[in-house]
Amino acid sequence: MSINVTSVSKFYKTQKALNEVSFVADKGQIIGFLGPNGAGKSTMMKILTGFIKPNSGEVLVDDINVLQNPLAAQKNIGYLPEHNPLYKDMYVREYLQFQASIFKVDKKEIENCIEKVGLTLEAHKKIHQLSKGYQQRVGLAAAILHNPKVLILDEPTTGLDPNQLVEIRTLIKALGKDKTVLFSTHIMQEVEAVCDRVIIIKKGELIIDKPLAELQNNTQQIIKVIFNIEVDASQVEKLDHLVISKKINTNTWQLTFNSEEDMRAKIFDFAQENGFKVLELSSENKTLESLFTELTSN
Ligand code: ADP
Ligand code: MG
Repeated sequence: MSINVTSVSKFYKTQKALNEVSFVADKGQIIGFLGPNGAGKSTMMKILTGFIKPNSGEVLVDDINVLQNPLAAQKNIGYLPEHNPLYKDMYVREYLQFQASIFKVDKKEIENCIEKVGLTLEAHKKIHQLSKGYQQRVGLAAAILHNPKVLILDEPTTGLDPNQLVEIRTLIKALGKDKTVLFSTHIMQEVEAVCDRVIIIKKGELIIDKPLAELQNNTQQIIKVIFNIEVDASQVEKLDHLVISKKINTNTWQLTFNSEEDMRAKIFDFAQENGFKVLELSSENKTLESLFTELTSN
């Protein structure tokens, strides 16, 4: 297993940023790490790369315990942080040489990486002269200099124009051929274009972890139900396959399920078992993209 995360929780003072998150990434997978702003994506990535410690849980990257052996683990990890912190007054090649010195990478490898990310014609320029898309390539080159097995990319495409987006996605896909890649984004189409697997987190909770193909086949059922009495969250959350629950008003819930079963019948059974009635029920099926829009809208 390339990445193995078990029950990771992280608090910033009293605020919970991650709640018992677990997932695994197999070798060679490209995983889209998706979630609205503030979901905990960057926090998870900083924990994976050994830059911050969780309050509890365990993290292995290429079978090395990141919490116990951060330096050893970092040899296997390439990390492009959010907002790509670059020394913009440096020349591209000079910056990469500087980064390479940290990992004792030899000169030939630097040229190799410059070529791999398509920076050959820009390598003599100062970083600030480059477009945002090319600056991202510099960040990617820096992340792969020491030939890590695992790449952690925090929102590598945010702020790029449509052409640059396509270029960077193509590059991520190419890099993913011989590496495990975990990259965060809040753009659903991106995940559909690049990933093998999708992990969605919301408010620090992992809510979906599935192969992309499975998720694309499964349409999401969104059911609006009006009960005869007020039903509280602890009750509706007992329903199987529930992904999102949103209280519309006192007796009305909007429930999103990820299941091939028709959940309408289950809701009737649920009401009966708990001694209340369904007054009205409407259902629609949604695609992955509208599920995500739904997720980010609240
Ligand atoms: P994302 O990358 O998905 O936008 P983050 O991991 O940056 O989410 O943040 C998750 C939550 O933790 C947010 O509510 C954020 O405000 C909070 N948070 C992140 N970093 C810190 C920090 N250094 N100190 C306090 N709170 C933080
Ligand atoms: Mg972030």
